[in-house]
Amino acid sequence: MNRRPSHQKRRQKLLLSLLTATAVVACATSPLGRNQLKLYSDSDLDEMGVTAFAQTAKETPVTTNGQATTYVNCVANAITREVGGVWEVKVFESKDVNAFALPGGKIGVYTGLLQVAKGQDQLAAVIGHEVAHVIAGHSNERVSQQQVTGLGLNVAQLIVGGGAGGGALMSALGAGAQYGVLLPFSRAHESEADLLGLDYMAKAGFDPRQAVQLWQNMAQAGGQKPPEFASSHPSDDTRIRQIAARLPQDLPVYQSAQAAGKKPKCG
Ligand SMILES: [Zn+2]
Repeated sequence: MNRRPSHQKRRQKLLLSLLTATAVVACATSPLGRNQLKLYSDSDLDEMGVTAFAQTAKETPVTTNGQATTYVNCVANAITREVGGVWEVKVFESKDVNAFALPGGKIGVYTGLLQVAKGQDQLAAVIGHEVAHVIAGHSNERVSQQQVTGLGLNVAQLIVGGGAGGGALMSALGAGAQYGVLLPFSRAHESEADLLGLDYMAKAGFDPRQAVQLWQNMAQAGGQKPPEFASSHPSDDTRIRQIAARLPQDLPVYQSAQAAGKKPKCG
């Protein structure tokens, strides 16, 4: 991010804002109308996301599979076109069934996910879910809650130290389930990301009915390490019921998108 004059200066400024944030009460509203506590600026969150992404990219190999890279980028770009902004996508070589998105416009997908998310529409459901966490400001809420409960200094130290490892910062932002640090998104955040993600995929011309199939696949895949989007969530049944209840709203959106020529062919 060359537009920033000095990375060091940014970090100092961020530390200051993290340390003084408890003096400020900032209320916001999520895209679905839920009240939110947000103590930080978008640029603070972007800085954290960019740092966490860089650390993750250092620790996890990017796949050399060109076909997988093209495929994931095709789906991710179709989704992010609907929400705007500049996004960077990396496909990591890992058996983990996982994906994440971070403030600052970063998306990571693990190759293991491609075994469970069958086809472009199911992958779009996961990426839509992850992008929704970012657009709805869930990371800001998480970091704000951690600040209020006294865990905020750790976040500040992570940013300023810069070298404490991506796992802890990823966890602070809500994307660290695979690191074994259990600070998952709340149930309210998960439900909101499910519904917003469904809206995004439908707008992009992906079939929202495939989201239901995805969660059924996820439930079957199980596994001892729950992926970000399956952790700390109401049961799969509840999740699937909530998504199904929104389909009457999103199916016409999908059909309009298709009629308007949005017909992703990502493979
Ligand atoms: Zn999630």
